[in-house]
Amino acid sequence: MTFTIPFDNSYARLPEAFFTRQDPQPVAAPHLLAFNEDLARLMAITPGEVDEMAQVFAGNDIPDGATPLSQLYSGHQFGTYNPQLGDGRAVLLGETVGTDGVRRDIQLKGSGRTPYSRGGDGRAWLGPVLREYVVSEAMHALGIPTTRALAAVETGEQVFRESPLPGAVLTRVASSHLRVGTFQVFAARGQTENLRQLTRYAIERHYPQADGPMGLLRAVSEAQARLIAQWMSVGFIHGVMNTDNCSIAGETIDYGPCAFMDSYHPNTVYSSIDRMGRYAYANQADIAVWNMAQFATALIQQMTSRDAGVEEATEIVHAMPGLIQTAWLTRFGAKLGLAQAEEGDQALIGDLLTCMVEGQADFTNTFRALGTVAARDQFLDPQAFDAWEAGWKDRAAREEDALATLHAANPSVIPRNHRIEQLIEAAVTGDYAPFHRLNAVLSTPYADHPDATDLTRPPTESEVVQATFCG
Ligand code: AMP
Ligand code: MG
Ligand code: MG
Repeated sequence: MTFTIPFDNSYARLPEAFFTRQDPQPVAAPHLLAFNEDLARLMAITPGEVDEMAQVFAGNDIPDGATPLSQLYSGHQFGTYNPQLGDGRAVLLGETVGTDGVRRDIQLKGSGRTPYSRGGDGRAWLGPVLREYVVSEAMHALGIPTTRALAAVETGEQVFRESPLPGAVLTRVASSHLRVGTFQVFAARGQTENLRQLTRYAIERHYPQADGPMGLLRAVSEAQARLIAQWMSVGFIHGVMNTDNCSIAGETIDYGPCAFMDSYHPNTVYSSIDRMGRYAYANQADIAVWNMAQFATALIQQMTSRDAGVEEATEIVHAMPGLIQTAWLTRFGAKLGLAQAEEGDQALIGDLLTCMVEGQADFTNTFRALGTVAARDQFLDPQAFDAWEAGWKDRAAREEDALATLHAANPSVIPRNHRIEQLIEAAVTGDYAPFHRLNAVLSTPYADHPDATDLTRPPTESEVVQATFCG
């Protein structure tokens, strides 16, 4: 069998202003750490020899049909506009159209310097590469739209952060790497023709039913609203919701300082650089709306009748909090076993969340245990929970099968921060067993995992991870 990727590269056919042609920078000694066979099959990729694949996924060999390039974009970082970002450490090899008919990008991340690297080294170290591999595949298994991981390689070279660390490259797969920031860069530069062409491309690739720029805005807003509700429903904190990390396809993208909450608190922040808590758990809905306002502002630049665009864009952005709220209620209703959300359900959910804050209850395990005696054990002082539970049981009694509904909505296992840190520590010493085991368990997050209670339990006090880093 020869390693074959059936490339069909649409982005490389766009104007040269959209990117810079850029080969990945070779590395010393590539070693394949992980290869996602299921995803490869879906993408119509024929696997090859391990060494052959290691050379390609490290960027040393450029496979037939690839058209390597780094994409241009800009974006608001923590609310401040940065006029030029772009792929500073990534190269898009190209796209395949999968056996499911879906076009997907294949991107090497950590593949060396590019014209957009600014002060950076263009590289990634092993820790963030394994974190993104595990968490993005876990999100996929949870049923949440996300970029995915096709492969991870160690480079055999060192990367310097605070100290020398093993280098690695992640092969990231995405429905596309179009971001709000991809539109912002052309809008800010007044390049209206490029903006129009990008808009047409995004519509054709992701939302063929959308009518023009405002149709695109509506479709992306709806996708982002659904996404944010899904994040909230599993206790996910993205950590760096800058507009360059806001996907037009509505996928979770950029697993830098992201984290899943252990005990529930709405103000939870892990990211070491998010000092103001802009991207705290409960702020994510507001930020998604803010990001869509930036998207609207960029799109409006191409409207010939500007006033009409402003009015419609305003209406779409203002509708978004309601969309998120509706999606949130559906998700959290299901987490309580309620298939159809009713009038008082919002208060019922809110009351449980309040109990969880006061009782320092574990987010994942509390929801998973509802309906069993284990639920009250999650609370420091279970009395408030007992009262809540009585009301919930009355409400759930009107459901056909509340337990089945809540089991399908509440994972038993998530990628907990302390387990990720531990698997990275092991990997740095050459032990990849924890990485592979966590991946395997996370592939069926809605099943019970009685043999992996070490992975489902919350961290002990000494295991708690205080902060996450971009890497
Ligand atoms: P992020 O915060 O991960 O969205 O990254 C913001 C920008 O910094 C993007 O343009 C990245 O490509 C760039 N970047 C991040 N890390 C590096 C690095 N090590 N070398 C060069 N560019 C980087
Ligand atoms: Mg990014
Ligand atoms: Mg990043």
